[in-house]
Amino acid sequence: MATNEEEHPDVHKFKLICVNSSAFLCLLALILVISFSAGGWRIVVVAGTEESKCTAVKAHGNISQALFRDVCVNGGTETPFSGIHDNQYPLTGTYRCGCCGAPLFPASTKFDSGTGWPSYWAPAAGEAVGYATHWNVLTFATEVHCKTCGAHLGHVFDDGRDPTGLRYCINSVCLRHDDELTVKAHTNTPWIPNDILFLLVAVGGILGLVVLCCYTPCQHYQLRKEQRAVSHSLP
Ligand SMILES: [Zn+2]
Repeated sequence: MATNEEEHPDVHKFKLICVNSSAFLCLLALILVISFSAGGWRIVVVAGTEESKCTAVKAHGNISQALFRDVCVNGGTETPFSGIHDNQYPLTGTYRCGCCGAPLFPASTKFDSGTGWPSYWAPAAGEAVGYATHWNVLTFATEVHCKTCGAHLGHVFDDGRDPTGLRYCINSVCLRHDDELTVKAHTNTPWIPNDILFLLVAVGGILGLVVLCCYTPCQHYQLRKEQRAVSHSLP
């Protein structure tokens, strides 16, 4: 906001209060969304885990170990419609973690999302999966990982199926199907922010922080100069 040299200090002060209030509210919205979302203040730029924690990885005989390392260990994403579990809908069993073998998703919660990645509306009961706020260049989303070993699994969105309304979008290479095991679904899932809302709030909050840290101090200094100039010009 350019400051007119002839602008009265009171007008300048009013504009500064408006800008400060807006910036503060944007920053507050970001803080609240992060605080109450599933990912919370566990913020990751690159998801993944240590390969030494992958005790069950040898069970993957027919899966590329390089792809497994890129996606599950180093937090990458497999090509859509390429995974072995895409377009397969077994009625029984459980999908286990491809890294440590922990039960992650009941087969009964799998559905066709049309995205090219296996999708589930709920994880297994208990604390099967963990969440993190995933900030990448232009990505603000809720990352999902195996709670036991930390292996990156994928992301979760709010455009899924009832009863949770969620879509756990998981990389095939990080899963293996166990037809013998049956687990219950965890339907009491945490809050997952809408990804558009998440993006807008994140951009607004970061801009608000920049304004409060950089713009506001400069404008306060300018305002004090103007106020001194007005007081000196008084008879
Ligand atoms: Zn695991």
